[in-house]
Amino acid sequence: MRSQLFLFDTMSGRKEIFRPLRPPEVTMFVCGPTVQSRMHLGHARTYVFYDAMARYLGHLGYDVSFLMNITDVDETITRAARRESADPLAFSRLMTSLFLEDLRRLKVTTVTRFEPVSRHIGEMVAQIQSLLEKGYAYRAGGWVYFDTSKFRRWGRLSHQSSRDLSLRPLELSPAKRNLTDFGLWRPEELVKGRWRSPFGPGSPGWHIQDTAVTLPIFGPQYDIHGGAYELIYPHHEAEIAQAESITGVRPLVRYWVHTGLLNMEGHKMSKSLGNVVTVDEALKAYSADELRFHFLSVRHRKEMDLSGLGAAQRRLREMRSAARRLARSERSDGHSLGPFESALNDDFDSPRAIGWAARTLAAAAKEDDPARSSKLAWAGVRAMSILGVDLLVEP
Ligand SMILES: [Zn+2]
Repeated sequence: MRSQLFLFDTMSGRKEIFRPLRPPEVTMFVCGPTVQSRMHLGHARTYVFYDAMARYLGHLGYDVSFLMNITDVDETITRAARRESADPLAFSRLMTSLFLEDLRRLKVTTVTRFEPVSRHIGEMVAQIQSLLEKGYAYRAGGWVYFDTSKFRRWGRLSHQSSRDLSLRPLELSPAKRNLTDFGLWRPEELVKGRWRSPFGPGSPGWHIQDTAVTLPIFGPQYDIHGGAYELIYPHHEAEIAQAESITGVRPLVRYWVHTGLLNMEGHKMSKSLGNVVTVDEALKAYSADELRFHFLSVRHRKEMDLSGLGAAQRRLREMRSAARRLARSERSDGHSLGPFESALNDDFDSPRAIGWAARTLAAAAKEDDPARSSKLAWAGVRAMSILGVDLLVEP
């Protein structure tokens, strides 16, 4: 019998048995990009991880509805478009198509539905109105703010006390009632004359964009919410506050799964530090499989460094050369993937799972019986293919 899948849940702070709401369906939402520039490898790590996870859930027999939003309305996009003397909408459409292309090149193929948030402005306005009617939001100087003092569970996901929270004020403004209140609607028009609302012309805040996409599609509860660790506060905290205040149903999300940073020689890869490597640049020197292999060779919750990429490339080459040499004859499913599955069932321990595939290929190389050797080699090939890494391609 197959062991049970456990996932580390940021909300509870421990590994939990994975029980989806409506098996075999699994509903999974992952925060998509703000399409202001080409995708960099820090984002790629996150998307590759959730893609591998969705592939593994599929392998376990689940039917994964994988939803990703695309933030195509944001002041950073408007600013980037202005720098290029481009129309913000045309610019964000172009960046969206480049983002989708980069995902395809990384073999991130499991997302079942992409939703550009600009198509959901009406839903955002309706949700903000509902929050106003229920007393969770208030209007101030053209803005609409969420009143965090009205939401008892504010700070629960990030495990912060009210004292911790008071040290991390959001969006400084004298019009706000509490330091941690966040904007739902802002009076600035990101695209001139574009969005009207009962609260005046303007544009939606970032956090309401996610609930505007998930509530109509998944309803008031879904299984997995993914994204990078840095999004926990305030972004994911705000999503919980908005959705649970609107629907009265909790929890919004059954499993909060977060991924660690990708560093570049010890520093966070970020636009502001100027040490960004885009996916487009990286794919000129490395294959998608090599990038995937490197990302998955470290536990998803840990920080990792790009500097190990060369070593990952060599390790993958060794596994590939063994696989091509030894996976003879017909594809064979005879050898159990039990230890590989056990590793992934333990909060998706992909380094341990890859280690098993590598050892299985090494054992295949030592095996004298060709049939047995081929069977072992095929097990390694099958295991890696579940993670979206192909061992049988020509180098
Ligand atoms: Zn998000």
